[in-house]
Amino acid sequence: MNYLLPSLPYAYNALEPHFDKKTMEIHHIKHHQAYINNANTVLATYPELAKYSVEELIQNLDIVPNDKRILMRNNAGGHANHSFFWQNLKIGTTLSGYLKITIERDFGSVIQFKEEFERIAGARFGSGWTWLVLQEDKLVIVSTANQDNPLMGEAITGVKGIPIIALDVWEHAYYLQYQNKRLDYIKAFWNVVNWDQAATRFALKK
Ligand code: MN
Repeated sequence: MNYLLPSLPYAYNALEPHFDKKTMEIHHIKHHQAYINNANTVLATYPELAKYSVEELIQNLDIVPNDKRILMRNNAGGHANHSFFWQNLKIGTTLSGYLKITIERDFGSVIQFKEEFERIAGARFGSGWTWLVLQEDKLVIVSTANQDNPLMGEAITGVKGIPIIALDVWEHAYYLQYQNKRLDYIKAFWNVVNWDQAATRFALKK
């Protein structure tokens, strides 16, 4: 089994004006597909790896032969991260319930949570991701380089936790619309976070 590009659960223009149609289209069809294609070249050579889901694989990168491990860290990572990212976007949801209460408990307020997320996302040097993760019983914001995912483990990425929401801060995620203004893109994210999905993920992991 090869990895397949998942369909988006909405139209490319569904997140406008916050995330523009052209960026969403290129990001999905070109960038995400490229990670899948690169990972699939490894799966073609090592078909025994194809029995794992991409989430299982990135949580167990030591099952990948040494000379392909960085390739799969980057490309299976890219596939897992983007698959997560699309699901984590939607217009019109509201942060509420136990997730909101826990964010307020762990960050002081929703405003303070957003400020810290913006600060950490803005401080990522080069390409990477910013995540709200669950570490044991606490919500924490972490940043990873390249296509690393907190599920890969602390020994590999330097961070740990179960992803609840994620923001892609590679330039390809925003440059067409926002150019060098990464902070504007980060702030626009608050209009398109799928808090329903986040609450479901949080409830499953608690
Ligand atoms: Mn991306």
